[in-house]
Amino acid sequence: MSAPSRIEIPMFPQGKRIAVTTSWDDGTVHDRRVVAGLNELGIKGTFNLNSGNLGKTNWYGYVSASEIASLYAGHEVAIHTVTHPWLDRLDPAQIASEVLDDRKALEELVGYPVRGMAYPYGTYNQQAIDVLRALGIVYSRTVANQENPWPVREPLAWPATAHMFNTHPLPVGERFKAWHDNLRASGLYYIWGHAYEFEQCKDWPALQRIFQPLAGHADVWYCTNIELFDYEDARKRIVIAANRKTVFNPSALPVTLNIDGQLRDIPAGQTVPLTADH
Ligand SMILES: [Zn+2]
Repeated sequence: MSAPSRIEIPMFPQGKRIAVTTSWDDGTVHDRRVVAGLNELGIKGTFNLNSGNLGKTNWYGYVSASEIASLYAGHEVAIHTVTHPWLDRLDPAQIASEVLDDRKALEELVGYPVRGMAYPYGTYNQQAIDVLRALGIVYSRTVANQENPWPVREPLAWPATAHMFNTHPLPVGERFKAWHDNLRASGLYYIWGHAYEFEQCKDWPALQRIFQPLAGHADVWYCTNIELFDYEDARKRIVIAANRKTVFNPSALPVTLNIDGQLRDIPAGQTVPLTADH
């Protein structure tokens, strides 16, 4: 049996050319409406929560601890610190407690390791990055915009594509459509915002207007923030034999290969023989 002539490791599962993810800060009660909207559209979100605010009724009001697990099921819960400080104004010990105490509180509620984060106010400095890295935080989202922010060189200063109400060069929905229509485009479309902004602007129809164009595409992977990092880790660990006749996937996730133009999932933890007609 001859070996395949080329084995590629596509960026996303099932060889999807684009990933769409979203990120929502502060955990106000309006998250309920956003989650319902995203669920209808099949889009996933990462919800960055301040454990110190859960259940509070001041300002817009916040989601309560008891609803976290069920409300955000299928999405990701991530760190936004306990009390929403400017991290660039704190010493390392306070940064560490803000992050680690939030993480532990959220983990008690969701029942899985919480590894991602978004910076309160988007502010950070090198010291904050160093503390987060020491604590094992996988990524932290900023409020910077960057076309196609994947893969990311510094995951602890991760820009998104755009804020949900961004209109440059186009509103988010139209911008996605233009990008997706280009069959050569590939990468990440990453939108962030606050659920309460729909309320603040008295514009709940914006939820559909902005996100409907992103939804329902067969060539798009709809994922949470952390799923991008987990898949990238798994992908990087793929071992292809020099003779291209076997491949080993040492990770805990299936990884999709493109073998002479045909997609094939390599199951987690397995060594699989490959032939030219595989
Ligand atoms: Zn915030």
